[in-house]
Amino acid sequence: MKDKISQLTASRKRLLQQMPDLSTVLPGSLLSRMVRCNKPGCRFCEKGTGKGHGPIWILSVSLGNRQVRQVPIPGEMKKEVEESLRAFAQTQKVLKQIAQVNLELLKERKRQR
Ligand SMILES: [Zn+2]
Repeated sequence: MKDKISQLTASRKRLLQQMPDLSTVLPGSLLSRMVRCNKPGCRFCEKGTGKGHGPIWILSVSLGNRQVRQVPIPGEMKKEVEESLRAFAQTQKVLKQIAQVNLELLKERKRQR
């Protein structure tokens, strides 16, 4: 029936509208870490009790072959990086859904030919 095809085409159109701005996407995940300055007498870095300085933010990106690239992120860029990571995740999610709809469309078109 023609209806199924137009249904699938409509849901694909809806999915495409959920695609974020691809120009902003960033891979990886954001980690936080405390750092030690090793200055003698620093109360933040005192052995046993000091928690260190920070947190600092690090974008950790897997390059494959067990290689990881770690990029320190200045505090004022953290929000922007988080949004770019969300855009990346959303892109992958929507892309998979669109591919699934296209698979259904392919099956339906074969059935109707
Ligand atoms: Zn310190």
